[in-house]
Amino acid sequence: MTSLSSGGFIKRLFARITFNRYKEVFDKAGYAIMLIDNATNRFIKVNKAACGLFGYTNEELQKMTPLDISTESEEDELLSSGKAEGSVIRPARCKDGRIIIIRVQTSYSEKFHVSLISDVTEEYSIRRALELNEERLREAQRIGHFGWWEFRPETNKYIGSEEISRIFYDETRDLSFTFQENIAFTHPEDRSYLISAIEDAIEKKKESFSLSYRIITPQGRVKAVAVNSNIKYDDNGRQAYRYGTCQDITETQKIMDDLIAARRQAEESDRLKTTFLANFSHEIRTPLNAMLGFLNILTSMDTNDEEKAEMVRLIEINSQRLLRLINDMIDMSRIESNSMEIKYTNVDINNFVSSMASSLNYELDAAGKRNLVLIPVTDTTKKAVFQYIDELRLSQILSNLVSNAIKFTDEGEIKYGYRISRSENRYTITYFVSDTGQGIRSDRLDDIFQPFVQYWNEDVPKVQGAGLGLAICKRLTELMKGRIWVESIQGKGSSFLFTFNTPVMIE
Ligand code: ADP
Repeated sequence: MTSLSSGGFIKRLFARITFNRYKEVFDKAGYAIMLIDNATNRFIKVNKAACGLFGYTNEELQKMTPLDISTESEEDELLSSGKAEGSVIRPARCKDGRIIIIRVQTSYSEKFHVSLISDVTEEYSIRRALELNEERLREAQRIGHFGWWEFRPETNKYIGSEEISRIFYDETRDLSFTFQENIAFTHPEDRSYLISAIEDAIEKKKESFSLSYRIITPQGRVKAVAVNSNIKYDDNGRQAYRYGTCQDITETQKIMDDLIAARRQAEESDRLKTTFLANFSHEIRTPLNAMLGFLNILTSMDTNDEEKAEMVRLIEINSQRLLRLINDMIDMSRIESNSMEIKYTNVDINNFVSSMASSLNYELDAAGKRNLVLIPVTDTTKKAVFQYIDELRLSQILSNLVSNAIKFTDEGEIKYGYRISRSENRYTITYFVSDTGQGIRSDRLDDIFQPFVQYWNEDVPKVQGAGLGLAICKRLTELMKGRIWVESIQGKGSSFLFTFNTPVMIE
């Protein structure tokens, strides 16, 4: 009995000591401890640290539930990142309204659960600030299309930030590639430049160097990148590692290229205008001076009738030349200002070709080229051929081309007219002017349709013209939904061809 009762006493004594120890630990703990009743969800016991943390008295807290210190904000979810360690990080509201961030670790028993709570407001705000900075840095890299990279010779590997992988792979992925793989990314034309720039920097013990070159991504996109590199050397002067930034400058490069092209174009058009003005004044002055001279001779006393007739003919030719130049100028400015009016009608093309003959032959006569003939060409297998076009503009194009052919051909023939072709029930009329003249060098074929562009052979004296004829022909064909092109062999002759994408009727 004694032993039993003394055993009971010892048990109670131990229980008392354990309880006292527990109470001491409970009260003096540096962190908040809160016991919560499972049934009522009320705080049944809280320690001093808990009162201190939330600013409530023991009695006040005992009438409260965890909900009374929660902020009920959506951020509760957001902060629960500490769950991995078996704890939850969440905001809580103190009695004075302050919001603090707490880490809560909870253990459950049948009747109650115990939460150990510590204040992590400061730690959390530092971590949040760091995360925010990292986020901003990543965002800045994404917006600026630049990333950081590092290369270590001992591993022969590049590693880099997210943006580097977006630049090189067009997607975000783990980035690690060898020096050789980096070279394989480089545009073949820039590879030797890249390798020698790196070798040169290391050989000269440079601490930093910059270069820009092109890369080709696995999707085949060509990008321009600007790379800034820093090199660190070991005690033996060998490269320890390299690191730096890489920026995608494709867009910037494109803008620069466009600007350079625009400047070149402006310079070119400036040059063309200067050439044009020089030509233009020459083109105006020459016929005017000639006319004044012929008028002088005409009015002088000792000119006979035959000479007078010749002077009148020459004055007429020169005034025609002047008129054509002025008409070309007016047409060009009308086309450029979009005020050229196109009047469509159904034109009988055979009639049209024969109606052109007399004025074109007159021009050939006036040019005095006796070894040159003009041959009109029509399709005699068809009864009638019509096209819906502006007859005046068609005649302007044809006579411009025939004038050129006469200008640039000394002997042989100039054929002008049309050919009909048919594909899938659709007729196409191709108009043409072919000569057996001096022809055009193949490298000039593209730009003779530009305004103010003129060429003449070095061994042939410059022929008249302001370089507007073909430009007007091109604009006029385009206005009538068509196109014009040239085929030529130098020394053999040229063929100018044009079509209009407008309705054709054949009988
Ligand atoms: P222009 O005749 O006033 O010089 P164009 O625009 O009509 O201007 O012609 C531009 C250039 O195209 C000419 O200077 C000439 O070099 C070339 N060209 C045009 N037609 C012919 C042609 N039939 N044969 C050879 N060269 C031609």
